[in-house]
Amino acid sequence: MTSFHLSERDLQAAAESSALLAAPQAAHLRDCRQCQNQVATYQHLFAAAARLPQPAFAFDLTASVLAQLPKTKPAFPWVLCLVALPVVGVVGAFLALFGGTLVQAFQELPTLLGGGLVIVTGFLVAGQCVELLARHRRQMRLLSFS
Ligand SMILES: [Zn+2]
Repeated sequence: MTSFHLSERDLQAAAESSALLAAPQAAHLRDCRQCQNQVATYQHLFAAAARLPQPAFAFDLTASVLAQLPKTKPAFPWVLCLVALPVVGVVGAFLALFGGTLVQAFQELPTLLGGGLVIVTGFLVAGQCVELLARHRRQMRLLSFS
């Protein structure tokens, strides 16, 4: 037996699986009766916790969440479609008229500029994702369970 014993974290890891321990801790556990007993205690505790019934709330969680959700679903953005349709038409007409010239221009585009465009696009997408996540967190904070 060595002078140290396993930490609580190592004891709990060993209770889950002895394969989770590093070699020195596993070697100690093989030789130390005290640590083996503590691991056995954790295993009994984990098994008992696994047998506990699922917690039941004293209130209807589903009804509480549904009561706080917006009642109306967002309207379809028809105005945005009315704006987008002419824009798409103008872009389509532009491509039809100057498509050949554009293809030549993009073939001569240096790779550095292309890489820059990819990086900027990545930043824009990442920014949108962060904004979406922040909005989701704000909305989740507004929910209160009573
Ligand atoms: Zn020990």
